[in-house]
Amino acid sequence: MENTTVLEKFLGLEFPGRKFNKEQFDFLLGYSIKEPRDTERTLIDRLYGKSVFKSVDDFYQNNRDVELAKIRLQGLRNKYSTPARRNGFRSFKNFVDWWCNQEGKCCYCEVDEKVSMAAFEKEHITSKKTAWKNGILQIERENAGGEYIPENCKLACVLCNNAKSDMISAVDFEKFFADATKNYWDFIKAKLDGVDTKINLCDTCVHTFAECDSNPKFGDGIGNDNVYECDKYEEALIHK
Ligand SMILES: [Zn+2]
Repeated sequence: MENTTVLEKFLGLEFPGRKFNKEQFDFLLGYSIKEPRDTERTLIDRLYGKSVFKSVDDFYQNNRDVELAKIRLQGLRNKYSTPARRNGFRSFKNFVDWWCNQEGKCCYCEVDEKVSMAAFEKEHITSKKTAWKNGILQIERENAGGEYIPENCKLACVLCNNAKSDMISAVDFEKFFADATKNYWDFIKAKLDGVDTKINLCDTCVHTFAECDSNPKFGDGIGNDNVYECDKYEEALIHK
């Protein structure tokens, strides 16, 4: 796949609806995707002429989305830059392409990376480990002893990846743990949405949300309407 196609794919996924003009696109292509990379100053001079931006900072101040995309791509490059991953993925372009194919979700519990990042940012989940506390999805090898090749790699959230570690197979993790993690993320999502999880009752089983613990499904109202159905629904009907 071409460098340009990979960058288009990345920007479409990470910055939906935002337009990058030709110079901005070419800047990201030359600085963030291509190998070997050009320097920022060289690219700015080539794309805009020498007198348009006083400094690299001046360029970024006038091109905020470009700076955000650059930072994000640098984060991916850091993940890619271990000998084992370079070896397995063969090029940064391939790595970005693989990353885009994961669609920003944990392969087990399907939590969206934005939710995971927000959970750590708002301190609904905390960790002393630097590598965990940004909430960014991690590279998980389905076969933990296998190589870092695209076919063996998926993205997993920090909770799934560390619970599974090298102890549990992907199949068993899916079977025994994925639903529990999904359930926990629903609870965190409710907190992020400002639901008071201590006082809100489950509409159907009449427990508080925290006690309900039974795969509750969310409505879009506030108050008691937040949880509209849980696995204890049938049981609750019998006791009415
Ligand atoms: Zn997960």
